[in-house]
Amino acid sequence: MSSVPPDLQLERTRLEALDKAHLWHPFTQMQGWLRDRPLIIERAEGCYLYDIEGRRYLDGVSSLWVTTHGHRTPALDAALRRQLDKVAHTTLLGLTHAPAIELAAKLVALAPPGLTRVFYSDAGSTAVEVALKMAFQYWQQRSDPRPRKTKFIHLQQAYHGDTIGAVSVGGIPLFHAVYRPLLFETLSAPEPYCYRCPLGLERPACAMACGDELGRLLEAHAEEVAAVVIEPVMMGAAGMIAQPEGYVRRVRELCTQYEVLLICDEVATGFGRTGWMFACEAEDVAPDLLCVAKGLTGGYLPLAATLTTEDVYNAFLGEAGEFKTFFHGHTYTGNPLACAVALANLALFEQNNVLEHVRSVAAHLAARLEPLRTLPLVGDIRQRGLMVGIELVADRTRRTPFPPEQLMGYRVTNRCREYGVILRPLGNVIVLMPPLAITVAEVDELVSVLETVIAEVGREISPA
Ligand SMILES: *Cc1c(COP(=O)(O)O)cnc(C)c1O
Repeated sequence: MSSVPPDLQLERTRLEALDKAHLWHPFTQMQGWLRDRPLIIERAEGCYLYDIEGRRYLDGVSSLWVTTHGHRTPALDAALRRQLDKVAHTTLLGLTHAPAIELAAKLVALAPPGLTRVFYSDAGSTAVEVALKMAFQYWQQRSDPRPRKTKFIHLQQAYHGDTIGAVSVGGIPLFHAVYRPLLFETLSAPEPYCYRCPLGLERPACAMACGDELGRLLEAHAEEVAAVVIEPVMMGAAGMIAQPEGYVRRVRELCTQYEVLLICDEVATGFGRTGWMFACEAEDVAPDLLCVAKGLTGGYLPLAATLTTEDVYNAFLGEAGEFKTFFHGHTYTGNPLACAVALANLALFEQNNVLEHVRSVAAHLAARLEPLRTLPLVGDIRQRGLMVGIELVADRTRRTPFPPEQLMGYRVTNRCREYGVILRPLGNVIVLMPPLAITVAEVDELVSVLETVIAEVGREISPA
């Protein structure tokens, strides 16, 4: 049956055995993994991944939300090779280097106004940790200190990463409940999840009452709050929750009014994903701290940054003996290979008019997704740019969720693989996060597979 040569099959079997003997995969129930046949990726090109048997798959999740111009983009490959000929790693502790310097200047030029200082780290989670520690320390030691401002407000269903500080400002019970005893205390406001409004209201009659709730929380606690943390415009890992227009602006106004810092986590939404360089630009908002990671290197290497204002930065200036230093730094902070590839990535945004491309291909995607709204399993489709969540429901009228143990999201995405499309769900939400460079033809392929599979699974669950 299979056209795969025998030596390739042997190699596949050998790798599978070693994987199952030694690897522990992230966010993965390994008992299930051991039962399944893993897909072993060997190479990639553009928007496609190839497994070791040569099968081709459309990368519908940008290799976990990171790929921008596609896999093996010649300009990024070349930038990386050029930097390899100079130095792979040198430290930013006590030294500096051109790629980190140039990239910091570039990030400041691209970022919303007022963000003039760049602190590097390695992952989205660490970018958030850095923002939390900076905000906390800022109030302790600025020229007019407010030492009681030590708490953080976040949205109830938020996701900001997996390290302990980032988990503390998160609220996804499935991911976070088990670690509760390890976390610091926070305050939380209802998320603007219009399909399942936590306040039981309807748009637009609600007049964004969830914003009022945040306002009340700030009014009561502003004296003890250091910062509000949000993921602006579209909350990704929280379940692709698209915020109503005006929400981010409202949060910014409240933070200004109550003298609280605003941290925008744009780890997922940053670098063109929503059709804006940064999502907060959609509402003309500039945060006090901005966290970026995923798309920063075009999907090549782990690199993250936390940007902040002169005001925050100045609070950390002093003589060594004043101990106002920001005592934080990861070993590979500002790695030159990662910075070099990030610079090439950002240069391509301009050369290829990426934002324009994202907007037009996203409009095509929206039109192609429209008919899926009538499929029996589809409760809601939420999209901002090339960031989409399709929420599957057991009953469309009552919006009844599938029980988590039914793994309905995986049932759909596993079937998509058989049709050559890689997707990964968030619970009952099917996530589409294709590379920003995806073409109209590739969007058609992605949506037609998804449409076929959702219809198939729908028929299997409730045969007509
Ligand atoms: C992915 C993500 C993170 C965590 O980033 P890591 O690189 O996985 O640590 C944080 N915040 C948001 C919004 C994310 O999407």
